Amino acid sequence: MIDTHAHIDTDHFTPDRSQVLERARGAGVQAVIIPAITIENTDVAAALVGQYPWVYRAVGIHPHHAQEVSTAALARVEESSTAERVVAIGEIGLDYYYDFATPENQKRVFREQLRIAKRVGLPVIVHNREADEDVLAIIADEQDGTLRGVLHCFSSSIAVLERALALGMHVSFTGNVTFRRWAYDDVLRSVPEGRFMLETDSPYMTPEPHRGQRNEPAFVRLIAERIAKVRSTTVDHIVAKTTETAQMLFRLTLALLLAVTTATLAWAQSSEAEHDTADYEHPYPRFIGVGGLVGPNTIVETQTLLSLNRTQPLSYEGIPAFGAMAVWEITDRWMLEGAYIFSENRKVVYDPVNNPFGQQNPDRYQFVELGMRYLFNPYSRVVFYGYLGGASSWVSWDGKPYSAPRLCATPGIGLFINIPTSVGMFVPGGEWRLNFLLAEDERFVTMGNGERYKAQISTFFSIPRFTLLYFPRW
Ligand SMILES: [Zn+2]
Ligand SMILES: [Zn+2]
Repeated sequence: MIDTHAHIDTDHFTPDRSQVLERARGAGVQAVIIPAITIENTDVAAALVGQYPWVYRAVGIHPHHAQEVSTAALARVEESSTAERVVAIGEIGLDYYYDFATPENQKRVFREQLRIAKRVGLPVIVHNREADEDVLAIIADEQDGTLRGVLHCFSSSIAVLERALALGMHVSFTGNVTFRRWAYDDVLRSVPEGRFMLETDSPYMTPEPHRGQRNEPAFVRLIAERIAKVRSTTVDHIVAKTTETAQMLFRLTLALLLAVTTATLAWAQSSEAEHDTADYEHPYPRFIGVGGLVGPNTIVETQTLLSLNRTQPLSYEGIPAFGAMAVWEITDRWMLEGAYIFSENRKVVYDPVNNPFGQQNPDRYQFVELGMRYLFNPYSRVVFYGYLGGASSWVSWDGKPYSAPRLCATPGIGLFINIPTSVGMFVPGGEWRLNFLLAEDERFVTMGNGERYKAQISTFFSIPRFTLLYFPRW
């Protein structure tokens, strides 16, 4: 359930804002959108968005404040559209009931903000009071196929609804649908699913039976109940559909994902920033770390069958590989790393059903890797690195003695996380590493039909790995 329009940043909520939000959560409200009234007083809304990951906001200038809007103020609307979890331009529009701004000024500011919304790719939240014709005319004029938005607190005739829908607009309903003098049940009945949403317009428009009190997001369910009754459906259905519609129109999931990504990056970079001012402290105490690794080995072979003069690929996936490793930090950005890995390919072994021409024993591989990690951001908690090195590999085919060492070229990319503790630094990480065998093998391969051919084989191993290092504090 989403309250797509609640002025919870206003003074009405100063005494008990956190309780109001708690009650909303308790009532099943998943998200609240705070529309703006002016571009000057946005601090409370911005702070709420920073504090509650399920609160979103819009930026814009309400028609009540349209009398003396400067170009600079409009530029600020456009600039602040990229602030954290701003999901719409609004509320904007026309209000001919009150007389706070001349219709000319209101129309100019409305139109300018519709253009901002199109430029920045956000939907609009439109306020309309006794201005149906002009609102529709300006939207029609500005609609170039990219304008999206909602006529909030929709309280107009079915003819206006149809024109708004035809212009690509959505509508949202608030507490006045529960009032006795509400006259538009036909609108509630005929508006298609996917085009309408719920809102409270808190602290105004309090639905029955709380009329006379301050409105708050927890009451949004009462609007869903009234709509469900008129449409002869369940409240759950209305809640599910309107939630989906709001998530789509305001792209709430995307906004939350962006916020999480930004926060994670800020967290990841936080130690780096500290380092700029703090005294130098080596990030990996005592320079030497030891640990282990585990990962799935993929063996990719290109086999050239000599007598047939034919080339065929073959790969074995998910061969378990594990090993031990040690790193030595030479400078703050360069780490020397050595690793030993063992991997056993049981997929080549005889099996009456799957591998009737298989061999008696598994193939066994050993690697000793030696190379350098280059750390791109050594003072961060999450450190990204590139790896370049070489490896020596030994193979034992079908239980035979291990071959002479063969050289590999070994690139990789990875990241690790520094977790300092009182006993030292724990460093879990992940890396994707390849081992390209620089030599070619010549051996017999068995085809699916049991025929054996001599083949020349070039091989590489893809060994993505989880690593865990420990830098003792001594
Ligand atoms: Zn409004
Ligand atoms: Zn409002």
